[in-house]
Amino acid sequence: MTTSRALRAPFTVGIVVAGAMFCAPALAQDFETTEVAEGVYQFRWIGHNALFVVSGDEVVAFDPINSEAAALFGREIQRVAPGARLAAIVYSHSDADHATGAPALMAAFDEDEVPIIAHERAVAPIRARASGEQPGPSVTFSDRLTFDVGGRSIELHYLGPSHTDNLVVPFIPDVRVAFAVDFVNNDRVGFQELPGWYFPEVFDALAGMLHIPFDTVVFGHGAPGDRSSIHRQIAYYDDLTTAVRRAIAEGMSEDEVAEEIELPAYADWGQYDPWMSLNARAVYRWLATTGG
Ligand SMILES: [Zn+2]
Repeated sequence: MTTSRALRAPFTVGIVVAGAMFCAPALAQDFETTEVAEGVYQFRWIGHNALFVVSGDEVVAFDPINSEAAALFGREIQRVAPGARLAAIVYSHSDADHATGAPALMAAFDEDEVPIIAHERAVAPIRARASGEQPGPSVTFSDRLTFDVGGRSIELHYLGPSHTDNLVVPFIPDVRVAFAVDFVNNDRVGFQELPGWYFPEVFDALAGMLHIPFDTVVFGHGAPGDRSSIHRQIAYYDDLTTAVRRAIAEGMSEDEVAEEIELPAYADWGQYDPWMSLNARAVYRWLATTGG
């Protein structure tokens, strides 16, 4: 794994806010590009990760993040793959903080008609947002999409509702790399009160990750991981659900659960202190309203 040029950051505060995974202040940088496998690169902008795959003279970009990030993203792609043509942009899901900036990314390549691929259920929330910076997809699919970029096969897997109902997991089979955004992380608890999460469907999506034959997984936030990262995430949500279910059986309220719950096995995970009790609130609401 090699890491290439990055700028010094004026955004140290942003990095702290974005997540404990970027906890080394000496490494604080506003963006960096890291090759995770042959021709497959993670592009990090503050606390958000994008991905791009280079093949021949073509490139496919996953998640432009936002317009500011996308302009840098385009420059980084051109630095790594000079002269490459932007063949497609893929949205992992409809959330604005990952899927904004396609026009800025296209502009970096002097293009304005690059195909944008997303799950069919991403269309409605993007249309409702009506942001010129977040055009809707021009190509959609429902279950699985396989396409070719410069002779390289790219797969998009829909694992059902997870975080939003339209999140897809890109997979590059020749190097066995997956890109999993927001519904799963690398030794970090979930984001705050798990906004947009679907229970219990998200557990099927977590299990579904293991049906994709990846060796390396790039996350929407934090450092890349491997299959064991997914096993640990599944164990965390299992343990969290078990603990909350037990608390409900004991008659505890949501506030009491948030106050008292502890999962010491995960105490060293990113964002455990600020967010684990918020994760517990989300699980409490699901179990209390549906019985799980
Ligand atoms: Zn999201």
